[in-house]
Amino acid sequence: MAKYVLEYLWLDGYTPVPNIRCKSQVKEFSSFPKLEELPMWGFDGSSTQQAEGRSSDCMLKPIAVYPDSTRRNGAIVMCEVMMPDGVTPHPSNARATILDDPGAWFGFEQEYFLFQDGKPLGFPSEGFPGPQGEYYCGVGYKNIGDLARTIVNEHLDICLDAGINHEGINAEVAKGQWEFQIFGKGSKIAADQIWVARFLLQRLCEKYGVDVEYHCKPIRGDWNGSGMHANFSTEYMREKGGQEYFESLMAQFAENLEEHIAVYGPDNHLRLTGLHETQSIDKFTYGLADRGSSIRMPHSFKNAGYKGYLEDRRPNSQGDPYQIASRILETISEVPTP
Ligand code: ADP
Ligand code: MN
Ligand code: MN
Ligand code: MN
Ligand code: MN
Repeated sequence: MAKYVLEYLWLDGYTPVPNIRCKSQVKEFSSFPKLEELPMWGFDGSSTQQAEGRSSDCMLKPIAVYPDSTRRNGAIVMCEVMMPDGVTPHPSNARATILDDPGAWFGFEQEYFLFQDGKPLGFPSEGFPGPQGEYYCGVGYKNIGDLARTIVNEHLDICLDAGINHEGINAEVAKGQWEFQIFGKGSKIAADQIWVARFLLQRLCEKYGVDVEYHCKPIRGDWNGSGMHANFSTEYMREKGGQEYFESLMAQFAENLEEHIAVYGPDNHLRLTGLHETQSIDKFTYGLADRGSSIRMPHSFKNAGYKGYLEDRRPNSQGDPYQIASRILETISEVPTP
């Protein structure tokens, strides 16, 4: 037997977007614990906007476990928040609202800024750095600074050790702005892993005195905002598809414009302006390889006979991937498949 440090993670009750919370407990196991071996746990919901003071217990139900290579015998335990009965999902539990569909695949492109002393990493103490142009996928001290790459590479290593399905990372258009992409098969896998990757990034940044800024437009002026494009497909979209089904699907997305925007992250009007490769927040459009549309259909999709995956470009960097995946699958479910 060995003692394992189990870092339980959950989402709090803050709106419009939750924060990730964590606490650890130490338990003995004969080898790295399996999900079924992990006990439920509780926390004080009155401190997380999830309960009133007098009856404040909320339950943590483990839903996935990941090795934590930064600690000896470390495990990250992602949880759903449940009511005191242990079986009813808490109202804040958006994961529980996602339709279960093993054939649904999501790929999220998470953009974010690294911040220090209230401004992006690499910004001078007064004024601004040179204008955007060379930072995107850039290299060298003048583009990247002396700390950011250490952080993003270390983050990638920790995530890969944990079994998180990263597809890549890159420096983004603004100085101090970065992206990682996570893909998962199953309606909840990629969303779970985005939250765990966010946690690992925030925790890693503590030791460098850096914060992660997820806001979609943290610097005014001619500086890019941050998104979290949601690429999605279902088995039907990949195997059958077709133009008629695609057009019905897009009509349903148009019909549900407001419901989608409501969960695509706060302050999104600052980012979805119709400029800088976005569609404006009050319009729904789709287009072939069109980065100025709400939903982009890749060339591969049209060439295959309207089969494959689509990219919803509207979700922002601060959005909750659980709420986003839930809404996308709900709209898809409203369209009958022939
Ligand atoms: P972009 O040009 O938008 O940056 P990328 O190639 O970086 O495009 O991202 C596209 C993403 O689409 C991939 O990261 C992957 O996660 C996702 N993806 C690819 N195939 C599928 C699929 N069949 N279903 C859902 N998502 C997919
Ligand atoms: Mn990308
Ligand atoms: Mn990007
Ligand atoms: Mn994209
Ligand atoms: Mn509707």
